[in-house]
Amino acid sequence: MTPGSIAILGAGPVGLEAALAAAEAGWAFTVFESSSDVAGNVRSWGHVQLFTPWSMNVSSRVRARLAEVGREPPNGEEYPTGDQLVDQVFEPLAEAPEISPHVQLDTRILEISRDGLLKNDEIGTGVRARHTFRLLVRDAGGQERVEYADIVLDCTGTYDNPNALGLGGIAAPGERAADDYIIRRIPDFEAPILKGDAPGWGGMRILLVGSGHSAQTVARDLLGVIERVPETRVTWTIRSASPTFGAVENDALPARDSLVEQARALAYGSDSPFDVRLGRSVHALETGPDGIIVSLRAEDGSIEHVLVDRIISMTGSVGDARMYRQLQVHECYATSGPMNLAAALLASSSADCLTQESQGADTLKNPEPDFYILGSKSYGRNSTFLLRVGWAQVDEVFSLLGTSPPVVPAHA
Ligand SMILES: Cc1cc2nc3c(=O)[nH]c(=O)nc-3n(C[C@H](O)[C@H](O)[C@H](O)COP(=O)(O)OP(=O)(O)OC[C@H]3O[C@@H](n4cnc5c(N)ncnc54)[C@H](O)[C@@H]3O)c2cc1C
Repeated sequence: MTPGSIAILGAGPVGLEAALAAAEAGWAFTVFESSSDVAGNVRSWGHVQLFTPWSMNVSSRVRARLAEVGREPPNGEEYPTGDQLVDQVFEPLAEAPEISPHVQLDTRILEISRDGLLKNDEIGTGVRARHTFRLLVRDAGGQERVEYADIVLDCTGTYDNPNALGLGGIAAPGERAADDYIIRRIPDFEAPILKGDAPGWGGMRILLVGSGHSAQTVARDLLGVIERVPETRVTWTIRSASPTFGAVENDALPARDSLVEQARALAYGSDSPFDVRLGRSVHALETGPDGIIVSLRAEDGSIEHVLVDRIISMTGSVGDARMYRQLQVHECYATSGPMNLAAALLASSSADCLTQESQGADTLKNPEPDFYILGSKSYGRNSTFLLRVGWAQVDEVFSLLGTSPPVVPAHA
């Protein structure tokens, strides 16, 4: 890698934004993407409609660049699906001549360190900045190699690291054994559930776990399955006895508002087609010949059992921190986000993602020099991240880095 170069980890919406910013500012950079195409995570929920409209989903930087090549995406108040966003924004962007040669697909970052230093070396001395980053990467064939960079932007998101299903956020006994029957991404109900299944979920006994917007999306889609095949049985279990579903008063995002309203109707309505179990968490699972017996524990400790064919676990996700175990990253003990940003977010403590603004360039700094966590991963367990926060973070990082690469390489 060229001295004075940037490694951008992940070619999602924020990684690609960073790539364009790097290209515009004249930095040498490489984007490492684990999927076989860009925006792999968005593609995996590509059938889902966003709750923010086109006007909020494309940065001005990207919009201007795509306009230059005659591919400007819509800018109105319609809601794209994830697939439309990838097709009309992220793929054309990745094809731009200043970006395309610098994207390595099918390349997963496994671990990152400072060349020649351990985590506990050179604490606060300034020496770490003079040791290049050493990245262990794996290609599609399983071949491992080392790459080097002077600046690392970790934009790997959270979607690859779903939380466990069990009570207290750890795996329930039997959860690992039942893994083949647990779906941890928003399913496309038009497609086969698991390899070998016939298409469609109709007629199955399904347990839905969680109450966030992803769970609400699944609940809405399951209504359609029940309409098509009324024998389908859905049990919806939610940890809180009185979930609010993240309702926002006078919500300015109508798509989100209607999702929440529908979830409330399904959970509290007397004519709900779901069997709703509020105030219950997954205590244990047992896989047997007739299905999975799920033990649900109520707040008073009582246990009840449900027998299901499939479990859809929508219990959230948190970015992978193992990859930077050898770096001096100060994580928040509560949210797992990088400390400065996590503290700023806790202080602003807004539950509505629409009110989220970027918290300023300094909150993106880590004790590890030149290592930045951006995008949804930077929010840790806080689920209020919006794309437009990511655009602002990219602006802020490049304002810290300056608009041109250093003349003298920072290698040790
Ligand atoms: C279902 C859903 C709906 C959402 N709807 C909205 C919405 O309406 N509006 C909004 O503003 N936000 C929305 N969000 C939140 C957020 O904006 C998105 O999650 C967005 O995709 C975050 O972008 P990102 O670049 O930070 O991460 P990601 O999109 O997750 O991109 C990370 C990239 O890194 C790659 N990667 C992961 N690990 C590695 C590794 N080790 N090495 C190399 N590459 C790696 C992944 O394949 C992926 O391409 C939604 C999120 C979800 C899950």
